[in-house]
Amino acid sequence: MKDRAIAFDFDGTLVHSGFDKGVHIMYAVYAACAATRFRRFLHPHDPRGDLERLLRGLLQHTGAPRFQQLAALLNSLIHDRPVVVEAPHGLEVDPDLAAEYDCVRRTYDVTYTALNDAAARKYWKAYPAALEIVPRLAVDFDLFIASGVPQDMLEDDLARHGYDRRLFQGIWGADRQGGADKAELLGRIKARGYRDVLFVGDASRDLEYARTAGVKLFRIKDPEDFHSLAALVQRGFPNRAEPWTWTETDKRFFRSKTRRLVEALLAGRPLSPTEAVDAIHEERRACR
Ligand SMILES: [Mg+2]
Repeated sequence: MKDRAIAFDFDGTLVHSGFDKGVHIMYAVYAACAATRFRRFLHPHDPRGDLERLLRGLLQHTGAPRFQQLAALLNSLIHDRPVVVEAPHGLEVDPDLAAEYDCVRRTYDVTYTALNDAAARKYWKAYPAALEIVPRLAVDFDLFIASGVPQDMLEDDLARHGYDRRLFQGIWGADRQGGADKAELLGRIKARGYRDVLFVGDASRDLEYARTAGVKLFRIKDPEDFHSLAALVQRGFPNRAEPWTWTETDKRFFRSKTRRLVEALLAGRPLSPTEAVDAIHEERRACR
């Protein structure tokens, strides 16, 4: 065991995918409501208000395990409270709806997974800088993955993007029940007794996870940050202490892309996963 450890988030950190996933989550929640009696909370004649509420839930929970995100976005949609609750009872809905929550959860999970699979096949790539720097860091530090991606998908995703699993002492994701968030995973790494632990992430929420676990944070904003990281860690771990917020351009991207998918659904012509990810990527620069 080396005396310092670096843990990496996966989506948006080692693989360029974070913004797409935000649209996938918002749409998957909307589509799951539309397919069940949770549709009573939607306003299909004008979905803008619903999308704003879903967006508020998303912005506070990017990087969280997917079922925590579902609970937070539903809570935001139904009550304008963008916080995670124990679903379904924390959503305070009628008993008949609570009984249907399993169906909402399943539909959301299937929709979200299908969109992610389509995007991963066609668009998501590992950052070349990360593929180059991570093996170099493994020489001096113990490396871990601490991700919100479900554990069973995480190892496949890692291999698919060309990362050698032998570089990591632990590859840990969320469990299927939505537990084991990154704070818990980072706490597990810290408990091994390292002199210093650094979490490398992309979402503002990653900073909260790092703080909760009592470890440092380095933010990946663009690929060049991996080169900065490699230089900085040799002198001692950096620590980003200030939270950052989403820009209006970021919000416009989530809003406009999700609306495109929702409008097709409301028109009775829902896009296939491949069509949906193509729609998210067309004129990407113009939207972002
Ligand atoms: Mg991330």
